[in-house]
Amino acid sequence: ARPVIAIVGRPNVGKSTIFNRIIGDRLAIVEDKPGVTRDRLYGTGEWNGIAFSVIDTGGIEIDGEDSLLRSVRAQAELAIEEADVIIFMADAKAGVTHSDEEVAQMLFRSRKPIVLGINKVDNMQRMEDIYEFYSLGFGEPIPLSGSHGTGIGDLLDAAVSQL
Ligand code: GDP
Ligand code: MG
Repeated sequence: ARPVIAIVGRPNVGKSTIFNRIIGDRLAIVEDKPGVTRDRLYGTGEWNGIAFSVIDTGGIEIDGEDSLLRSVRAQAELAIEEADVIIFMADAKAGVTHSDEEVAQMLFRSRKPIVLGINKVDNMQRMEDIYEFYSLGFGEPIPLSGSHGTGIGDLLDAAVSQL
């Protein structure tokens, strides 16, 4: 089976946008598993000659009480279980949020290799906004713009090198 890269992060950071940049049109819709209430999106990609599967986990919401948010969290936990490498995404415009820190805790527990991608770095002025993300403890933040399609190569270099 192909190695699996999972994209994890709170809602609205741009996971689906980056997922689509990675897979192009190689989307695979996988049936729900029993007890899992939302589809996870799977796609495939290839980088540096290495073929892999990608999962867009749909986000983790920690603070919410309703069952949709709990199920999204459970979905991400499943994705963490399946992943060989995790792309942890956050948002340069929002900065480090409490939810990012909660997700970071989950990811530390996963003991999987983590690549930290910071999305919405749409221009050079935004580059200075990535440094605070070192505080999440996953090393060098990789600047991305899903809107412009920049940084995807650096992100995949980092992810594939840990497969
Ligand atoms: P998800 O909830 O993490 O899957 O995030 P989405 O991919 O749905 O993106 C959330 C919002 O952020 C959407 O309105 C996107 O258009 C926007 N977005 C995604 N990538 C970028 C980016 O690189 N720059 C900016 N400015 N907005 C982005
Ligand atoms: Mg999404």
